[in-house]
Amino acid sequence: MAKKEFQAESKKLMDMMINSIYTNKEIFLRELISNASDAIDKLYYKSLTDPSVGMNKGDFRILLTRDKDNRLLTVSDNGIGMTKEELEQNLGTIAHSGSLDFKKDNKDENIDIIGQFGVGFYSAFMVADSITVRTKKYGSEQAYEWQSSGADGYTITECDKETVGTDVIMHIKPDTDEEKYSEYLESYRLHALVKKYSDYIRYPIRMLLPEQKVKEGSDPEKPEYETVEEMKTVNSMVPLWQRKKSDVTEEEYNKFSAEGSVTYKALLFVPSSRPFNFYTEGYEKGLQLYSAGVLIMDKCDSLLPDYLRFVRGVVDSPDLSLNISRELLQHDRQLKVIGQNLEKKVRADLEKFLKDDREGYEKFYENFGRQIGYGIVSDGGESRKDSLKDLMMFYSSTQKKLTTLKEY
Ligand code: ADP
Repeated sequence: MAKKEFQAESKKLMDMMINSIYTNKEIFLRELISNASDAIDKLYYKSLTDPSVGMNKGDFRILLTRDKDNRLLTVSDNGIGMTKEELEQNLGTIAHSGSLDFKKDNKDENIDIIGQFGVGFYSAFMVADSITVRTKKYGSEQAYEWQSSGADGYTITECDKETVGTDVIMHIKPDTDEEKYSEYLESYRLHALVKKYSDYIRYPIRMLLPEQKVKEGSDPEKPEYETVEEMKTVNSMVPLWQRKKSDVTEEEYNKFSAEGSVTYKALLFVPSSRPFNFYTEGYEKGLQLYSAGVLIMDKCDSLLPDYLRFVRGVVDSPDLSLNISRELLQHDRQLKVIGQNLEKKVRADLEKFLKDDREGYEKFYENFGRQIGYGIVSDGGESRKDSLKDLMMFYSSTQKKLTTLKEY
């Protein structure tokens, strides 16, 4: 069969992609899982209006399987699958996103498709020297296999596949001095990557994990243990900031929409004690940034002004105009809007804290009061100064306690 070449631009882009766009090779798993989740969303969405799909929400899952001996790692989904034409279009052309087309065709607000850049799939070539995609589209009889070893092209052939959905089978690169690719064949590493980037994917991500079990027939007095592999769901699926308020303890739950067109949810809190390294260089400020439940950045420091560096939490915005690598969005205008609103919200909540819980606030002030002063002298305009001064406390020598300016 003839090998088809990628389009010329694709070749260049692919090289760039594999070698430089992503800073972090491990994100390939996040990209493939996000694709799998999008594919499932599409079939699930169809099933809502078309009972002949015959699938319930609980039937959908993403499977991670590994075959260490053959160095194979597979991400399987039982989502919508692809036709031959779609394989060609979606995986033969970089920067063509079927998901973006889908979003454009279905102007339904509730569709929360993660991918829309048409590049994520190729990130798998950072860790794999060849990739096979076996896929069967919902509603079609024939399955197809796409095969490629990178920039030189791909083949598509017919294949047998019983169930609808897609398997992405990666042949993991051999280890080098710099890069231990074999790690991506270890369950602990895959488990950790799912937890880190894809914990809030809404469908179960399942894989075999080693489990210590009491050996059958062993003496109950002196039990013997053995390690067996058990199929487990690794991701927790429901984001903390999506849970009911009453289920989130001791933390502040804020749910709000920013002005303008950016929507987001944020869950912020102030630690009850000062981190030991707070005044050292080792302390990194920043909030975790998610887009539709997928971790984009672990410490996004542009979401909060410096003086609020003690605030911890997560922000999730499905609207972020993600850059191709999902990592380069620090200077996004939408982030600025979110940041400005978070700052106002934190200030308003601290005022309320002072009003409603004096003792708690004084404790807070002991830990982080200096930051409020710092906010006043830092460069933030009059309105920041003005509202922060009401959050300041001073020790009064006559009253022998902390007082605010207003009280004074
Ligand atoms: P993006 O996800 O940003 O659109 P990708 O390069 O990751 O870009 O994928 C390109 C397209 O290939 C997707 O938009 C989708 O249409 C299709 N695709 C990728 N993975 C799958 C999958 N597991 N099931 C069905 N379609 C997929």
